[in-house]
Amino acid sequence: MENPAIDPRHLDAIADADPYPYWYDDADEPDANPTLVRTESCDLCIVGGGYTGLWTAIIAKERDPSRDIILIDANQVGSAASGRNGGFMEASLTHGIANAQQRFPDEIPVLEELGLQNLNEIEAAIRRYNIDCDFERTGVIDVATTFHPSSYGDEMREDYQQLRSLGHNVEWLDRDAMQAQVHSPTYVGGLWRKERAALVDPARLAWGLKRVAESLGVRIFEDTKATAIERDGVGVLIETSLGRVRAGKVALCTNAFKPLLKRLGHYIVPVYDYCMVTEPLTNEQLESIGWANRQGLSDIPNQFHYYRLTADNRILWGGYDAVYYFRGKVNTELESRPESWALLSRHFFETFPQLADVRFTHMWGGAIDTCTRFTVFWGRAMGGRVAYALGYTGLGTGSSRFGGEVLLDLLDGRRSKATSTKFVQDKPLPFPPEPFRFIGIQATRWSMRHEDKTGKRNLWLRSLDRLGLGFDS
Ligand SMILES: Cc1cc2nc3c(=O)[nH]c(=O)nc-3n(C[C@H](O)[C@H](O)[C@H](O)COP(=O)(O)OP(=O)(O)OC[C@H]3O[C@@H](n4cnc5c(N)ncnc54)[C@H](O)[C@@H]3O)c2cc1C
Repeated sequence: MENPAIDPRHLDAIADADPYPYWYDDADEPDANPTLVRTESCDLCIVGGGYTGLWTAIIAKERDPSRDIILIDANQVGSAASGRNGGFMEASLTHGIANAQQRFPDEIPVLEELGLQNLNEIEAAIRRYNIDCDFERTGVIDVATTFHPSSYGDEMREDYQQLRSLGHNVEWLDRDAMQAQVHSPTYVGGLWRKERAALVDPARLAWGLKRVAESLGVRIFEDTKATAIERDGVGVLIETSLGRVRAGKVALCTNAFKPLLKRLGHYIVPVYDYCMVTEPLTNEQLESIGWANRQGLSDIPNQFHYYRLTADNRILWGGYDAVYYFRGKVNTELESRPESWALLSRHFFETFPQLADVRFTHMWGGAIDTCTRFTVFWGRAMGGRVAYALGYTGLGTGSSRFGGEVLLDLLDGRRSKATSTKFVQDKPLPFPPEPFRFIGIQATRWSMRHEDKTGKRNLWLRSLDRLGLGFDS
């Protein structure tokens, strides 16, 4: 998609949108929990109340109901990525099959098996605990369009062959078959990955997990930021703004935020992703695009869009820009980026010109924790008393449950099929320090955009490939 001046009609379409996540516009948002203002003790302290922290808490209680657990969050549970994402819940633990092929080729069968098991476990937990989060196991279609080089379609066909050989339920859609699913003048084909992906309301999922954790006895404190971590006899001491937690073990689940263990800052960078939601579509508007099977859709360039229907038939439309701010800044002001929203608006109407009258009602952004292997990694510190899981790189809605489960295995010294994989044992390569970090990320973004236009990987991307740092979305 080229980038000439934005058409004023595309700006009009976003002019009245509220700059906060659509998912929070919900009467069922839970009340805030108290702030920790004294010293508390527990067996396990979890820092971070997104999906990773919440699943860690729930699985820990399911394994041992007598374990005393405190979860603290600097803000509110689900206020960061977990409550504001696109709601695409994929079985893949590796950020797709192409990334798995590049980095973990020998472990693909076991990782695919663990990934499917993880998605099934999430679905089972949603039913077991009665979490009302609009879970729909519709699958996802990777869409080939006229906006990117035809060689990308060939790569998608390779993915299709590989997924079939792994026994996945996938369907190749030629132009007519793709148009029969969803109508856009830009679509030339698609790869429908069935069963291994679902859609959810992400905030309702986070709130539901909070309720479950509390019902199992987890004590949750909000507006409670951990400011320091240190050894404390045989345990660990977490300092917070107004109190402290003495814990036997600590799980760090802080995603893209500044890590408590300084060395983790070498492995992750916060990258901002932006998205928006339309008003509910009328029946006529819906008919003009089809989409009866309600799959999640995602196009296939390096700079890709993801989009889906919500329960009330709005379209969530996001992606494309992925913005790194110098020195890895993370703050709420960066959740707004009008130029990204304007570009997204334009791409939306190019994809669905039949929806010319539709307006956007919400637009927002959030930080994703990018690492050089583009998928979650784990580690331990302080003699095994502390463990962490982070680095999901924008695909953690499903894999964060697996992240929490493995994190707990590491803390408990429990050997499992997962912990014996190199996928769990290995770490990503670190990022260079600033200013090389910023320059490197900008060069990569520029080169990927160039590849999306020309189909050619330039010298910079080929060098990254040789170093094992290349990304093939
Ligand atoms: C706009 C957007 C769209 C996305 N779309 C998708 C998608 O469709 N599918 C998908 O799979 N993934 C998507 N993602 C990524 C996905 O949301 C994340 O991978 C996932 O939510 C990570 O969960 P988490 O618990 O690790 O992190 P988070 O949800 O970020 O939670 C971390 C928590 O830690 C807390 N915290 C941080 N530091 C401290 C501290 N010092 N003390 C106490 N608490 C602290 C924060 O307040 C926060 O609540 C998207 C992300 C964004 C931003």
